[in-house]
Amino acid sequence: MIQVIKKGMIVGMVAASVIFTGCGNAAEPAAGSSAAEANADSGAAEINTGSSAASSGTASADENTEDTVETNSDAENYELLTREVFAMDTYMTFSAYGEDAEAALDEAEEEILRLDQLLAAESEDSEVAKLNQNGGGQLSDDTAYLIERSIALNQETDGAFEITVYPVKQAWGFTDENYRIPSDEELAELLPLVGSEQLELDAENKTVAYQKDGMKIDLGGITKGYASSRLTDIFMKHDVQGMINLGGNVQVYGPKPDGSDWRVAIQAPERTEENTLPWLSQAASGSASLAGLDYIGVLETNSQAVITSGGYERYFEKDGVYYHHIIDPKTGYPSDADLVSVTIVSEDGTLADGLSTSMFVLGLDKASEIWRAHSDEFDMILMDTDGNLYVTEGIKDQFTSDLEIHWIE
Ligand code: AMP
Ligand code: MG
Repeated sequence: MIQVIKKGMIVGMVAASVIFTGCGNAAEPAAGSSAAEANADSGAAEINTGSSAASSGTASADENTEDTVETNSDAENYELLTREVFAMDTYMTFSAYGEDAEAALDEAEEEILRLDQLLAAESEDSEVAKLNQNGGGQLSDDTAYLIERSIALNQETDGAFEITVYPVKQAWGFTDENYRIPSDEELAELLPLVGSEQLELDAENKTVAYQKDGMKIDLGGITKGYASSRLTDIFMKHDVQGMINLGGNVQVYGPKPDGSDWRVAIQAPERTEENTLPWLSQAASGSASLAGLDYIGVLETNSQAVITSGGYERYFEKDGVYYHHIIDPKTGYPSDADLVSVTIVSEDGTLADGLSTSMFVLGLDKASEIWRAHSDEFDMILMDTDGNLYVTEGIKDQFTSDLEIHWIE
């Protein structure tokens, strides 16, 4: 049994949220093992209880890619090729098999670097940063698509998904790691800049105009899911199959080389450096069933994106209070709904990413309500702050857990 926790590091905080488990098949993805190794000196943990974990090279920010080959012992002729890339502030692993796998991985790598350049609000010469400097402008196809989808999501989530939240994110220091707690006056001044209805998008001519000076957008809540969708399209074009792991956010396309489904394990909420779980209620953080929990459960799939959001992925602590990076657009504060971890399962990676962030803000009841209206489009795995596990019934045949499961119907 292999258990490898995949961690992407963002200044000492964990970006990854998914681990893989497998049963000693040489073709099992090394998803994350090498990334975790590469991170070991910067604090990432790795659990490896397996005896035959497929090993692979290491990646680092400097030498950002490396290929590894794993030979499949089964009858199939194709090797699983694995490519490691550091981009979007995290460690990524792409694995593909098929005649054209090498070319598919080359193109996937090029694409991820292109999207990183284009979409990162924090890097000064990205398209998004330029839009923010100029209060709008001409859009690339990617950005036009993402802004359009973000506005639609904003409407479907009662305003929870809000890309114009960036000035507030900046005020909290989440953009440059100069963490601070903005005053109420400061937030009151910034909140009028937040609101997707103040983005004038011309989808046909691909332009956007911000209606107020100082407005800024941030596609960070949806970028990785979009990227994994794009990479899946590349796999499809090259007629290869495989798995894409962007710092713990996973999308699979086709089964494993041996024909079985991928087993994607959902990471349990991360502990702090002090080994505490401040995201959970006091009773839950002391509960025995959660104490040593590495993962919430395992999802078997050969066709879906599995994307997780949680406050534990990026946060700072001040005077014993923990402040995380997912902002409630209504208050300007880190959201304080009743969920600690939200995983969305969907064939649409972009949707899965947008919804994982949204549902975290909305909380259990509202998330369940939205799922009931769109149950053909996605499923969810939720843990609330009392440590209860809720899963939508659409993945009843795919999801297993050692914890008691409350099915959402
Ligand atoms: P994720 O890890 O996908 O949940 O994305 C979290 C990131 O989305 C944050 O680091 C911010 O860049 C951005 N973000 C924070 N709050 C929101 C929000 N309410 N709506 C959309 N994006 C947000
Ligand atoms: Mg998201």
